Amino acid sequence: MANKALVQVTKSGLYCAAGDFYIDPWRSVETAVITHAHSDHARAGHGAYYGSQSGMPILKHRLGSEWDYRPLAYGEPVRLGKATVSLHPAGHILGSAQVRIEVDGEIWVVSGDYKRDDDPTCEPFEVVPCDTFITEATFGLPIYRWHPTTETAREIYEWWQQCRAKGRSAMLFCYALGKAQRVLGELLTYTKEPVYLHGAVDVLTEIYRQASVPMVPTVPVF
Ligand SMILES: [Zn+2]
Repeated sequence: MANKALVQVTKSGLYCAAGDFYIDPWRSVETAVITHAHSDHARAGHGAYYGSQSGMPILKHRLGSEWDYRPLAYGEPVRLGKATVSLHPAGHILGSAQVRIEVDGEIWVVSGDYKRDDDPTCEPFEVVPCDTFITEATFGLPIYRWHPTTETAREIYEWWQQCRAKGRSAMLFCYALGKAQRVLGELLTYTKEPVYLHGAVDVLTEIYRQASVPMVPTVPVF
Protein backbone atom coordinates (compact mmCIF):
# COMPACT_ATOMS: atom_id res chain seq x y z
CA MET A 1 0.00 0.00 0.00
CA ALA A 2 1.51 3.32 -1.08
CA ASN A 3 1.82 5.90 1.70
CA LYS A 4 2.60 9.04 -0.19
CA ALA A 5 2.83 10.07 -3.82
CA LEU A 6 6.41 9.87 -5.03
CA VAL A 7 5.51 12.09 -7.98
CA GLN A 8 3.15 15.07 -7.94
CA VAL A 9 1.83 17.45 -10.54
CA THR A 10 3.09 21.01 -9.98
CA LYS A 11 3.09 24.26 -11.96
CA SER A 12 6.48 23.34 -13.38
CA GLY A 13 5.55 19.76 -14.23
CA LEU A 14 5.85 16.32 -12.61
CA TYR A 15 7.89 16.66 -9.42
CA CYS A 16 9.54 14.11 -7.14
CA ALA A 17 9.97 15.72 -3.72
CA ALA A 18 12.07 12.87 -2.29
CA GLY A 19 14.68 13.45 -4.98
CA ASP A 20 14.00 17.17 -5.55
CA PHE A 21 13.81 16.81 -9.35
CA TYR A 22 11.28 17.26 -12.12
CA ILE A 23 10.45 15.03 -15.07
CA ASP A 24 10.19 16.83 -18.44
CA PRO A 25 9.42 20.17 -16.71
CA TRP A 26 7.98 23.01 -18.74
CA ARG A 27 9.33 25.79 -16.52
CA SER A 28 12.99 26.33 -15.58
CA VAL A 29 14.05 24.10 -12.68
CA GLU A 30 17.28 23.13 -10.93
CA THR A 31 17.26 19.42 -11.80
CA ALA A 32 15.39 17.89 -14.74
CA VAL A 33 15.13 14.26 -15.77
CA ILE A 34 14.26 14.20 -19.46
CA THR A 35 12.46 11.25 -21.05
CA HIS A 36 13.30 12.21 -24.64
CA ALA A 37 14.19 15.10 -26.93
CA HIS A 38 10.79 15.96 -28.46
CA SER A 39 10.06 19.62 -27.80
CA ASP A 40 7.00 18.98 -25.61
CA HIS A 41 9.27 17.10 -23.20
CA ALA A 42 12.71 18.74 -23.46
CA ARG A 43 13.05 22.47 -22.95
CA ALA A 44 16.04 24.79 -22.53
CA GLY A 45 16.79 26.63 -19.28
CA HIS A 46 17.16 23.96 -16.58
CA GLY A 47 20.11 23.70 -14.18
CA ALA A 48 21.00 20.05 -14.85
CA TYR A 49 19.72 17.53 -17.37
CA TYR A 50 19.67 13.83 -16.68
CA GLY A 51 18.86 11.79 -19.77
CA SER A 52 19.75 8.57 -21.51
CA GLN A 53 23.20 8.20 -23.03
CA SER A 54 21.87 7.35 -26.49
CA GLY A 55 19.46 10.30 -26.41
CA MET A 56 22.08 12.86 -25.34
CA PRO A 57 23.39 13.79 -28.82
CA ILE A 58 19.80 14.58 -29.89
CA LEU A 59 19.13 16.58 -26.73
CA LYS A 60 22.32 18.60 -27.24
CA HIS A 61 21.45 19.22 -30.87
CA ARG A 62 17.98 20.46 -29.93
CA LEU A 63 18.82 22.53 -26.83
CA GLY A 64 22.43 23.59 -27.47
CA SER A 65 25.60 22.32 -25.82
CA GLU A 66 25.79 24.99 -23.08
CA TRP A 67 23.69 23.09 -20.50
CA ASP A 68 24.83 20.72 -17.75
CA TYR A 69 24.13 17.30 -19.29
CA ARG A 70 24.36 14.17 -17.17
CA PRO A 71 23.98 11.06 -19.34
CA LEU A 72 22.90 7.77 -17.83
CA ALA A 73 23.14 4.33 -19.41
CA TYR A 74 19.82 2.45 -19.39
CA GLY A 75 19.43 0.79 -16.00
CA GLU A 76 22.25 2.79 -14.40
CA PRO A 77 21.06 4.03 -11.00
CA VAL A 78 21.74 7.55 -9.77
CA ARG A 79 21.01 8.79 -6.27
CA LEU A 80 19.04 12.05 -6.15
CA GLY A 81 18.23 13.02 -2.56
CA LYS A 82 16.39 10.06 -1.05
CA ALA A 83 15.46 8.65 -4.44
CA THR A 84 17.26 6.14 -6.62
CA VAL A 85 16.53 6.98 -10.22
CA SER A 86 17.19 4.98 -13.37
CA LEU A 87 16.14 5.22 -17.01
CA HIS A 88 14.71 2.36 -19.08
CA PRO A 89 13.93 2.09 -22.81
CA ALA A 90 10.53 3.46 -23.85
CA GLY A 91 10.58 2.31 -27.51
CA HIS A 92 9.45 5.74 -28.74
CA ILE A 93 12.50 7.32 -30.43
CA LEU A 94 16.25 6.78 -30.15
CA GLY A 95 17.23 7.26 -26.50
CA SER A 96 13.66 7.62 -25.20
CA ALA A 97 13.30 6.59 -21.58
CA GLN A 98 10.89 5.69 -18.83
CA VAL A 99 11.91 7.04 -15.44
CA ARG A 100 12.05 4.55 -12.57
CA ILE A 101 12.02 6.08 -9.08
CA GLU A 102 12.62 4.07 -5.93
CA VAL A 103 12.25 5.48 -2.41
CA ASP A 104 12.31 3.22 0.68
CA GLY A 105 11.43 0.16 -1.40
CA GLU A 106 8.49 1.79 -3.18
CA ILE A 107 8.81 2.04 -6.96
CA TRP A 108 7.11 4.44 -9.35
CA VAL A 109 7.64 4.56 -13.10
CA VAL A 110 6.85 7.56 -15.34
CA SER A 111 6.55 6.42 -18.93
CA GLY A 112 7.00 9.53 -21.08
CA ASP A 113 5.92 8.73 -24.65
CA TYR A 114 6.31 5.02 -25.33
CA LYS A 115 5.30 2.23 -27.67
CA ARG A 116 5.54 -1.52 -27.50
CA ASP A 117 5.61 -2.22 -31.26
CA ASP A 118 8.83 -3.23 -33.00
CA ASP A 119 10.83 -0.28 -34.22
CA PRO A 120 14.22 -0.81 -35.90
CA THR A 121 15.36 2.70 -34.98
CA CYS A 122 15.26 2.60 -31.19
CA GLU A 123 15.78 0.44 -28.15
CA PRO A 124 12.73 -1.83 -27.47
CA PHE A 125 10.28 -0.93 -24.68
CA GLU A 126 11.19 -2.53 -21.37
CA VAL A 127 8.55 -3.62 -18.90
CA VAL A 128 9.63 -2.18 -15.55
CA PRO A 129 7.85 -3.73 -12.55
CA CYS A 130 6.55 -1.02 -10.20
CA ASP A 131 3.95 -0.11 -7.59
CA THR A 132 2.62 2.88 -9.54
CA PHE A 133 2.84 3.56 -13.27
CA ILE A 134 2.23 7.06 -14.64
CA THR A 135 1.48 6.68 -18.33
CA GLU A 136 1.23 9.01 -21.27
CA ALA A 137 -1.74 8.02 -23.41
CA THR A 138 -1.60 10.25 -26.48
CA PHE A 139 -3.33 7.65 -28.67
CA GLY A 140 -4.81 5.62 -25.83
CA LEU A 141 -8.43 5.90 -26.93
CA PRO A 142 -9.71 2.70 -28.58
CA ILE A 143 -10.71 4.69 -31.69
CA TYR A 144 -7.03 4.63 -32.65
CA ARG A 145 -6.22 1.52 -34.65
CA TRP A 146 -2.95 1.41 -36.56
CA HIS A 147 -2.00 -0.72 -39.53
CA PRO A 148 1.09 -2.88 -39.04
CA THR A 149 4.16 -0.75 -39.68
CA THR A 150 5.53 -3.08 -42.36
CA GLU A 151 2.27 -2.64 -44.28
CA THR A 152 2.49 1.16 -44.08
CA ALA A 153 6.14 1.06 -45.18
CA ARG A 154 5.17 -1.13 -48.16
CA GLU A 155 2.42 1.34 -49.12
CA ILE A 156 4.94 4.18 -48.98
CA TYR A 157 7.37 2.23 -51.16
CA GLU A 158 4.69 1.33 -53.71
CA TRP A 159 3.47 4.94 -53.86
CA TRP A 160 7.08 6.04 -54.45
CA GLN A 161 7.38 3.58 -57.37
CA GLN A 162 4.02 4.68 -58.81
CA CYS A 163 5.18 8.31 -58.75
CA ARG A 164 8.40 7.29 -60.48
CA ALA A 165 6.46 5.45 -63.21
CA LYS A 166 4.52 8.66 -63.86
CA GLY A 167 7.73 10.73 -63.95
CA ARG A 168 6.84 12.56 -60.73
CA SER A 169 8.83 13.22 -57.57
CA ALA A 170 7.45 11.51 -54.47
CA MET A 171 7.62 13.93 -51.54
CA LEU A 172 6.75 12.69 -48.05
CA PHE A 173 6.33 15.05 -45.10
CA CYS A 174 6.97 13.68 -41.63
CA TYR A 175 8.21 14.78 -38.24
CA ALA A 176 11.97 15.42 -38.33
CA LEU A 177 12.85 13.50 -35.16
CA GLY A 178 11.77 9.90 -34.83
CA LYS A 179 9.15 9.44 -37.53
CA ALA A 180 11.49 10.34 -40.40
CA GLN A 181 14.15 7.90 -39.24
CA ARG A 182 11.57 5.19 -38.64
CA VAL A 183 10.31 5.52 -42.21
CA LEU A 184 13.92 5.37 -43.48
CA GLY A 185 14.54 2.30 -41.34
CA GLU A 186 11.35 0.51 -42.34
CA LEU A 187 11.95 1.20 -46.06
CA LEU A 188 15.09 -0.91 -45.82
CA THR A 189 12.83 -3.98 -46.02
CA TYR A 190 11.89 -2.98 -49.57
CA THR A 191 14.78 -1.03 -51.07
CA LYS A 192 18.32 0.25 -50.75
CA GLU A 193 17.68 3.19 -53.05
CA PRO A 194 18.60 6.62 -51.68
CA VAL A 195 16.09 9.09 -50.24
CA TYR A 196 16.64 12.84 -50.41
CA LEU A 197 16.30 14.65 -47.08
CA HIS A 198 15.44 18.18 -45.99
CA GLY A 199 18.31 19.66 -43.94
CA ALA A 200 16.34 19.54 -40.68
CA VAL A 201 15.80 15.81 -41.14
CA ASP A 202 19.31 15.15 -42.38
CA VAL A 203 21.12 16.41 -39.28
CA LEU A 204 19.01 14.22 -36.98
CA THR A 205 19.32 11.23 -39.31
CA GLU A 206 23.09 11.65 -39.09
CA ILE A 207 22.85 11.31 -35.28
CA TYR A 208 20.89 8.08 -35.77
CA ARG A 209 23.59 6.82 -38.16
CA GLN A 210 26.26 7.56 -35.55
CA ALA A 211 24.24 5.26 -33.26
CA SER A 212 24.40 2.52 -35.96
CA VAL A 213 20.65 2.59 -36.70
CA PRO A 214 20.07 0.82 -40.07
CA MET A 215 18.31 3.04 -42.64
CA VAL A 216 18.20 3.41 -46.43
CA PRO A 217 20.94 5.62 -47.91
CA THR A 218 20.13 9.32 -47.76
CA VAL A 219 21.26 12.45 -49.58
CA PRO A 220 20.84 15.88 -47.98
CA VAL A 221 19.10 18.61 -49.97
CA PHE A 222 19.64 22.04 -48.40
ZN1 LIG B 1 7.66 12.17 -28.14
